[in-house]
Amino acid sequence: MSAIEFYDTRTRSRRAFAPITPGHVRMYSCGPTVYGPPHIGNLRSRLFSDLLKRFLLSEGFRVTHVINITDVGHLVSDADEGEDKIEAAARRTGKSAEEIAAHYTQVWRDDGAAVNCLPPEHNPKATEHIPEQIDLAKRLEAGGYLYRIEDGLYFDTSRFPRYAELAHLDLAGQAEGARIGVTAGKRNPADFAVWKFAEAGVQRQQEWDSPWGRGFPGWHLECSAMADRYLGHHFDIHTGGIDLASVHHTNEVAQSECGYGVHPWVEFWMHNEFLDMGSEKMSKSKGNVRTLSDLVEKGVDPLAFRYFFLQAHYRQQQSFSDEAIQSAATGYRRLQAVARELGVADAAAGEPTWGAEEAAAVAELRARFRAALADDLNAPKAMAVVWEVARHDRLSPAARRDLLRGFDAVLGLRLGEARLAVADESGQDPRIDGLLAERQAAKKARNFAEADRIRDALKAEGIEIVDTPAGPEWRRGKPA
Ligand code: AMP
Ligand code: ZN
Repeated sequence: MSAIEFYDTRTRSRRAFAPITPGHVRMYSCGPTVYGPPHIGNLRSRLFSDLLKRFLLSEGFRVTHVINITDVGHLVSDADEGEDKIEAAARRTGKSAEEIAAHYTQVWRDDGAAVNCLPPEHNPKATEHIPEQIDLAKRLEAGGYLYRIEDGLYFDTSRFPRYAELAHLDLAGQAEGARIGVTAGKRNPADFAVWKFAEAGVQRQQEWDSPWGRGFPGWHLECSAMADRYLGHHFDIHTGGIDLASVHHTNEVAQSECGYGVHPWVEFWMHNEFLDMGSEKMSKSKGNVRTLSDLVEKGVDPLAFRYFFLQAHYRQQQSFSDEAIQSAATGYRRLQAVARELGVADAAAGEPTWGAEEAAAVAELRARFRAALADDLNAPKAMAVVWEVARHDRLSPAARRDLLRGFDAVLGLRLGEARLAVADESGQDPRIDGLLAERQAAKKARNFAEADRIRDALKAEGIEIVDTPAGPEWRRGKPA
């Protein structure tokens, strides 16, 4: 078997992957800032870490995956200025910061479940780990890495010679091009807040006492402190979107390596590329976002988005458009049809038996699927093997069923399962139309229990029956 190779941002190289502790992979992924609905660009990041985890599980590793919830400290501007995103959302809506965070944490969890992401082993919130963050800041202070200015406690990046390493930054260029408006008193443009003081006269909802005064942690501090709490001083993989490498992750490295005295803190830095809208990054600030609910409202199965995600390598930009998601939905539907016909989700379908020749063909296909993912998680290459099996005209149905079952444990497409019905291009759905007709017939025969059963079953799929003058029609809403 070929070795697993992943691309590591820090060393800018592909290297053979083996966990620090044999058999056990520890990984950390930067999670959502819960001040608004996550968009499908964020979901790409989530799906990437989920595919990585599923692949590692299929290789027989135990995986401890941590995804944090940022519910304090992420400021509107990356330059440690501006309002806290959660506080701003609370002020705008008249809700409490806690309500805002709880609500969008739930939306994020529901979206993850809808696209079949495995729940992380730990899903810690920044606000529930303030002591850990203060502890790290104290270590940094003791090491002489921090200085105090009017609005907070800052990390002096010139004290950490490897500061530019992760993202290959040009610090000299940064210093020269330093914008006016850099926080007064900062020693270097790249210095960042570890602890921010509550502004005089501004009543924050979320603030805590610390040895330096009342305030709140800087955004980067939480990831260093929570990764340490759940994964230890030195762990295997850290993931996140590529936009995080140059500031957020760079600052995480500075804090962790200086505070815990390790190098390298993380063995593999794996970054996903953007999901784009046209040629621009999908992002809230550009106002070009789509959410998973937007797709579902248009009749797209959430797992069709997972299928779409699998069509691009995680290190390539992927362009989203209505046409692209519709064509992925069609591909997904076709694959589902094959999987259903083969009984992939049918537990009673039993263990396959095959002769030597077929066994060799099965082993070869399985090896190629595995090799594609061992090759820096090449999902499109793995999907090509999936389609080869789906269309295979010489393998027995039992062999194809068994292969697709094994592949799906890694892909998470729920192949062969009855799914939320997806209308075809004409907006028609013969299955739903048929059920509606059955329900009408049951009503006519005064079999109301059966009529209700059909209505409830459709409702569970998110299909609502609406009575119109022309008779009953169905409409797609959100799945119950
Ligand atoms: P945020 O909630 O904005 O902190 O982002 C959560 C995760 O989504 C981070 O890992 C980001 O890098 C990632 N992300 C944000 N926008 C995109 C995008 N358009 N494509 C891919 N990943 C993204
Ligand atoms: Zn982070």
